[in-house]
Amino acid sequence: MVDLRNQYLKSKAAIDTAIQDCIDSTAFIKGPQVASFEKQLATNLNIPYVVSCANGTDALQLAMMALDLKPNDEVIVPAFTYVATAEVVALLGLKPVIIDVDPRTFTIDQHLVAEAITPKTRLVVPVHLFGQCADMEGILQLCNDQDIAVIEDAAQAIGATYTFRDGRVKTAGALGDLGTTSFFPSKNLGCFGDGGAVFTNSEQLAEKVKMIANHGQSRKYSHDTIGVNSRLDSIQAAILIEKLKQLTTYTYNRQRVADLYDEALKNCDAIEIPYRASHSTHVFHQYTLKVPADRRDDLKAYLSQKKIPSMIYYPMPLNNQKAYQGIGRVVGNLKVTQDLCQRVISLPMHTELSDAQVAYIAESVIDYFA
Ligand SMILES: *Cc1c(COP(=O)(O)O)cnc(C)c1O
Repeated sequence: MVDLRNQYLKSKAAIDTAIQDCIDSTAFIKGPQVASFEKQLATNLNIPYVVSCANGTDALQLAMMALDLKPNDEVIVPAFTYVATAEVVALLGLKPVIIDVDPRTFTIDQHLVAEAITPKTRLVVPVHLFGQCADMEGILQLCNDQDIAVIEDAAQAIGATYTFRDGRVKTAGALGDLGTTSFFPSKNLGCFGDGGAVFTNSEQLAEKVKMIANHGQSRKYSHDTIGVNSRLDSIQAAILIEKLKQLTTYTYNRQRVADLYDEALKNCDAIEIPYRASHSTHVFHQYTLKVPADRRDDLKAYLSQKKIPSMIYYPMPLNNQKAYQGIGRVVGNLKVTQDLCQRVISLPMHTELSDAQVAYIAESVIDYFA
């Protein structure tokens, strides 16, 4: 699904030097690379404050902890997402309110958010799934009017941009009160282990997140709040500084692969290619097709025979997972999510795919349905 080795080889000299420098300095924790990376990422994405942490799941937890929510406060999350989004809600003793997504973009739907809001709703967590921003404008308006916070889960959408109706453009993660991302190796900007970050426009929230990530410590040995220990290692920051220089190229390569797939597959009647919303750019963390439910698993097996990997993101609605039985509240029948779980299939998508590889994959999909 990804080719991290060839991506590394292209920047090998710079990355190896950055790692060796870090080892030579022995500043493994809180080395200068960490603050430097935060600053460079903030500039690159045009987001005022970036606070790094240990992974994308922690980023969600830190962002939620910074909002001073109370037990059983309701948090609206989409049913079609990676488990981390709701996991953190449950872990913090908050109540996940699980709603359906839009059938075209697979992201949270503002009309369903409006339906799910109760007097206990304190937070909405839209997920910019597969690399495209959720339709945020209506959600931001709705939440602003009712004093409800918004945390964007931008783990899959680093660098995507959202365009408001009046033409203003903002980066994924900079639209809500807080945004979060992950530097898991296979994410669009990945390190060589775990990493994550919280984004915000608010200096006050940035300081709070920083404090919570550092044992709730305002000054050394002065603990103002119960925190956690969640840090980005200096070595990972050093690697990310080098990889950030390539982010534009990485994104371009993914978009190019998506264009090639689109062109090759658009006339195949059995397939729905990814929908591209006018409100967002798409950075194609995944290239996900909708195919007939009764053919999907067979297509996957057929591709596998031809040595083509594929993945089902996600096979089960969140609320059907064993751990989430009886947790929180489900709004509506989640018909779209149920349908997507039966029909989606993601093709290989990464920065190193050649034209010939894309052509072979697309032809194989077409051959299967011929
Ligand atoms: C990857 C991912 C996360 C979690 O990131 P980790 O760094 O693996 O903890 C959270 N939300 C979404 C949507 C993701 O894809």
